[in-house]
Amino acid sequence: MKNIAVYPGTFDPITYGHLDIIKRAINLFDKVIIAVAKNPAKETLFTWQERVNLVKKAVEDIERVEVEPFSGLVVDYLKKKKAKIIIRGLRMISDFEYEFQMALTNRKISSSVETIFMMPNEAYSYLSSKLIKEAGALGADLSSFVPSFVEQALRKKTLGKCNG
Ligand code: ADP
Repeated sequence: MKNIAVYPGTFDPITYGHLDIIKRAINLFDKVIIAVAKNPAKETLFTWQERVNLVKKAVEDIERVEVEPFSGLVVDYLKKKKAKIIIRGLRMISDFEYEFQMALTNRKISSSVETIFMMPNEAYSYLSSKLIKEAGALGADLSSFVPSFVEQALRKKTLGKCNG
């Protein structure tokens, strides 16, 4: 039986922090499915399709990784995929409370599901999609944080916004 893990998230947009977690996860599992939330609780800068496309491009050279949309409960999505593991990234202590609540809630809803937390390389432990969007809008060089095509997509979005 294949050991499949699901890495769910908003990925608005994907950063080197997410990619670091994906590369660590693929060393542990037969397959990693990156599940891009179609209707996340938070408002997104990129549309769902744009977020999916950016993730797909970012992982195109990594074997055994799939990118898929998902909506609804993560645990239902896992069942559909015959997966039992949720991967989440843990950066600072500030991530802990929310992630802890979510992991225990998911376990309560479905006892067969386990959440595994992975820590990124310390170089990315402060990196967030939110910060990237803010810094990008102010014209910062994002080359250490995101692949160049993500930076270009961000620039395009910001320009689009400036032009109305
Ligand atoms: P969500 O809205 O589900 O939190 P995100 O795309 O913001 O979606 O994050 C998805 C997962 O990736 C979360 O577990 C988050 O903690 C983790 N993550 C985000 N940025 C990083 C990073 N720089 N390093 C490690 N994990 C990260």
